[in-house]
Amino acid sequence: MAEKGFKYVILGGGVAAGYAAREFAKHGLKPGELAIISKEAVAPYERPTLSKGYLFPESPPRLPGFHVCVGSGGERLLPEWYKEKGIELILSTEIVKADLAAKTLISASGETFKYQILVIATGSTVVRLSDFRIPGADAKNIFYLREIDDADKLVEVIKAKKNAKVVVVGGGYIGIELSAVLRINNFDVSMLVPESWCMFRLFTSDIAGFYESYYEKKGIKIIKGSVAAGFTADSNGEVKEVKLKDGRLVEADIVVVGVGARPLTGLFKGQVVEEKGGIKTDGFFQTSVPDVYAVGDVATFPLKMYNDVRRVEHVDHARKSAEQAVKAIKASEEGKAIEEYDYLPFFYSREFDLSWQFYGDNVGETVLFGDNNPASPNPKFGTYWIKDGKIFGAFLEGGSPEENKAIAKVARVQPSIESRDLLAEEGIAFASKI
Ligand code: FAD
Repeated sequence: MAEKGFKYVILGGGVAAGYAAREFAKHGLKPGELAIISKEAVAPYERPTLSKGYLFPESPPRLPGFHVCVGSGGERLLPEWYKEKGIELILSTEIVKADLAAKTLISASGETFKYQILVIATGSTVVRLSDFRIPGADAKNIFYLREIDDADKLVEVIKAKKNAKVVVVGGGYIGIELSAVLRINNFDVSMLVPESWCMFRLFTSDIAGFYESYYEKKGIKIIKGSVAAGFTADSNGEVKEVKLKDGRLVEADIVVVGVGARPLTGLFKGQVVEEKGGIKTDGFFQTSVPDVYAVGDVATFPLKMYNDVRRVEHVDHARKSAEQAVKAIKASEEGKAIEEYDYLPFFYSREFDLSWQFYGDNVGETVLFGDNNPASPNPKFGTYWIKDGKIFGAFLEGGSPEENKAIAKVARVQPSIESRDLLAEEGIAFASKI
């Protein structure tokens, strides 16, 4: 089998890979210096589109429309762009073995790739219900969503099973976004939320209460505090019912599961130091192995602001960590130094006509402000998280671009608070003054 060698190899062809490639190109690349190896068949794209517009019934975005870097308002990197820059896009190629000591990657079909510097950008894979041995979890019409192939399967079933009953298992990002988009497609949607409220790890019960009422008004049934314990199938092997842990049965023609993701670090087990489930890096995304960097979902990095180390599974961090790693690689080649990564956590989502953003850390006590009545024509509300008398986190639904910038600044500056009542009264106006 042929062997190919590159100065730089990015392993993975997702969000981080695309942003890393753009950063390499900005610094100047010689043809053939950089390769991206991806098991996906398409050039890097903005993954969040898959659970939003991609599944819309009307004018859904399709590739090449959402290749990176359009998600952050940047240039769209079409496959031709990689060609022009002399970057080799090695697609539909899964790496099954990595030998970091020998600086070698081996693909499923036996090709060998050598590198001088490796950027690991393998992202995450979905957690499957069959991983927990849930009976019937391998029935037909149970879907997951991570890559464009998964989204295409959903598009097909949406077309094939008009107005059918869907059970969405999970009340996190994927659960809330898919429930909304499936309802827009006129499905009869039930969302199974295992915790006491949706988006449990981020939302307060007040925030969740707003979205849950809004969803119910849209006709989505929300079943809280119970998990899927099994599935029954018809004689064709197609899912028919979801059995809940509390014994209830919910009819389903389709099940869509969003119960979390797992970072893809298995190739490097025992070769690199891991922490908190990810590959441990420094503030330049350098791992414990020289010339090996890890970015995006797989990296556990120092979160300077909170004097902590974290792994973050969000697109904004995937983009920024990729850029930081490439800047660090180029700086070290030139004997220069760059600033350590200083990330402000940023999460967002969009469902129906709603759109929210969150910045910072959701720790401490909370102050709710604004109009969170789901029946309001233009609801706009938010929450501040306060620890040690300072604002650590800020959430806003329905904010304008300026207001969203203001909550980002508040979370970064961490101003002191004199009175919680005053803060509740001032609401977004407080952030806008900072
Ligand atoms: P990925 O984008 O997942 O890319 C990993 C790449 O590596 C993939 O191409 C994969 O095929 C490839 N790969 C993995 N293993 C191998 C191997 N062995 N050989 C070859 N290739 C390999 N975040 C937000 O902040 N907001 C959102 O609204 C949002 N929406 C999302 C919606 C969906 C449907 C999903 C799945 C995620 C969403 N996220 C969102 C999370 C965000 O997309 C991820 O955090 C981000 O994509 C991580 O980037 P990454 O490059 O680390 O991994």
